[in-house]
Amino acid sequence: MKEYGVIVIGGGHAGCEAAHAAARAGVKTLLITMRKESIGQMSCNPAIGGIGKSHLAREVDALDGLMCKTADNSALQRRTLNSRKGPAVRATRIQTCRDAYKQNMQAYINNREELDVLEASVTSLIIDGNTTRGVITDDGRKYYSISVIMTVGTFLGGKIHIGEKSFSAGRAGDKASNDLEKFFFEHPFKIGRLKTGTPPRIKKHSINFSRLEIQHSEIGQPHISYLYDHYGLASKNINQIPCHITYTNKETHGIIKNSKKLSPMYNGKINSIGPRYCPSIEDKVERFEDKESHQIFLEPETSSDIEIYPNGLSTSLPEEIQQKFLRTIQGLENCEISKPGYAIEYSYFDPRSLENTLETKYIKNLFFAGQINGTTGYEEAAAQGILAGINASLKFKNKEMWCPTRKEAYLGVLVDDLVTRGVMEPYRMFTSRAEYRLRLREDNADERLTEKGFEMGIVSGLRLNLFKKKMDKISLESSRLEKILIQPESKVSHYLKDQLGVTLKRAQSLKNLLKMSNIRYEDITKLDCFGKTVNSDIGHLVANNERYSGYLKKQEEEVHLLEQQQGMVIPEELKYEEIRGLSNEAIEKLSKIKPKNIGQASRVSGVTPSIISLLRIHLKKCSFK
Ligand code: FAD
Repeated sequence: MKEYGVIVIGGGHAGCEAAHAAARAGVKTLLITMRKESIGQMSCNPAIGGIGKSHLAREVDALDGLMCKTADNSALQRRTLNSRKGPAVRATRIQTCRDAYKQNMQAYINNREELDVLEASVTSLIIDGNTTRGVITDDGRKYYSISVIMTVGTFLGGKIHIGEKSFSAGRAGDKASNDLEKFFFEHPFKIGRLKTGTPPRIKKHSINFSRLEIQHSEIGQPHISYLYDHYGLASKNINQIPCHITYTNKETHGIIKNSKKLSPMYNGKINSIGPRYCPSIEDKVERFEDKESHQIFLEPETSSDIEIYPNGLSTSLPEEIQQKFLRTIQGLENCEISKPGYAIEYSYFDPRSLENTLETKYIKNLFFAGQINGTTGYEEAAAQGILAGINASLKFKNKEMWCPTRKEAYLGVLVDDLVTRGVMEPYRMFTSRAEYRLRLREDNADERLTEKGFEMGIVSGLRLNLFKKKMDKISLESSRLEKILIQPESKVSHYLKDQLGVTLKRAQSLKNLLKMSNIRYEDITKLDCFGKTVNSDIGHLVANNERYSGYLKKQEEEVHLLEQQQGMVIPEELKYEEIRGLSNEAIEKLSKIKPKNIGQASRVSGVTPSIISLLRIHLKKCSFK
């Protein structure tokens, strides 16, 4: 029997990154998945990125992972989110063709040296003492390895609900992993239940787009992989398909409210908690009763453009009710459903049973990654997958494993949050979860991680060289801008005053001007003295580095202060709803838990460093001691 260095169970977003990373590190790897055809499948919305999520995706890319390259290569629509805000919270979102994404991901997996793929279902693990030694598949075969990475998503004890109907499944069209779940019940892991859901898909030809708002892909087309130009993706003529916007209305909400008892979430069939930030339409109508309409994005699913994903309409109501409420929405009056929406309940492991390498505390050489750790989302899964793949390969080579820190990467924030706080509901990444978010921008993940990835053996020499060339260009451009000086009485100085209201009292370099909050990079490119730049992407990076250099120091001091103030007392009678700027989620959680001090409050799941900051300021203002 062939022995592997690493066996990965699951070919989803975590599994693909884990297996490819281990193989890149030169470790003989086996990826076992239920269906080869579904490797890289997007279970829900075919989009990569978004706020907080693109930060994680770019860290995967900086470590030479697959997600961003695959998304760029399968894009149907590209957008920059928060484009008017600072670069720390700016994000990229790529709507992809679901089929192309899967095919491109499968090409990476199938063509990778050191990586074998097996179609089978794993039913249990081989355990020797307290160490895993491999897996057993449903045909009784044994496969041995040094480490096992489990990435089985929503499949453990998965159960789909559509109205009154409920049945065992890992997701629509896939069997659940019940034997594997049973195996883990016999071990000391704390296992809980969570739920998620998806909207019905609509046949495109049945939609009347003529009265709907259209949203085109962005001009300038943001890409998500750092290497998009290297792969020739910059010039690739993708099939850009627009999205459309419509809204629910009173009639839609009336039908949903009247059908509440048919929804498994309200008639007691589902008790588990779903993702707060992707609520079902039943939830939205119930929770925001005073809102008369909700915005719905009609997004393309594939480049063949025959099915539409109505983003914002996740539901588990019976199919006939889904059809009925959809037809009350403008543009959808005659729509036909191609696949009904559904909710799925599944088992997950309490992530506090993991080390921050993602190795489990109870079984050595066993790593968990992805949705089974209580997260939701492709990017969260991929980020954990790459970390598990890296660490399993380092373990194989008897090297120290990597625990990314909160200061180093969103990946560090994600893992630290999971293993120290656990989850009460599916965990999604947000920029507000990161106390060092000015440092952890999506534009500099490669500066933070690519060299580290090379040292760990998962970033290729080619990629490292491309990165170094880019850094050289940044440094050249930075010194070029430093050398261009503007004198206070010059023509350019007068222009600055007239156009931007900036008065120069002494000579300033263009580089220094970039530190000023009222001057954007685009502004200095218009100055006569600007000259010729290498390229504007590099220029933007120089500008961001300059702009944030001062703030970074301030942020680090604040974080340090926060650490010192862990013992600050929170009075029991504190009314959280009176604290300005606190989100409803934070008010709800903190009022329920009533933490005794700042340290306890900061460990409550979902309570971010910025919430703690608001709390501290409020306590100081009210002179609570
Ligand atoms: P998956 O992508 O689910 O992959 C699991 C893999 O494990 C599959 O390849 C499967 O074949 C394999 N597998 C399972 N059991 C075995 C076994 N015993 N042996 C071998 N192989 C096995 N995320 C959001 O961010 N927003 C949403 O709105 C959202 N909605 C969702 C709706 C639905 C219905 C579902 C199912 C998921 C939704 N998600 C959503 C979550 C998102 O799809 C997941 O977070 C992401 O796919 C998790 O990746 P993963 O790699 O952990 O697992």
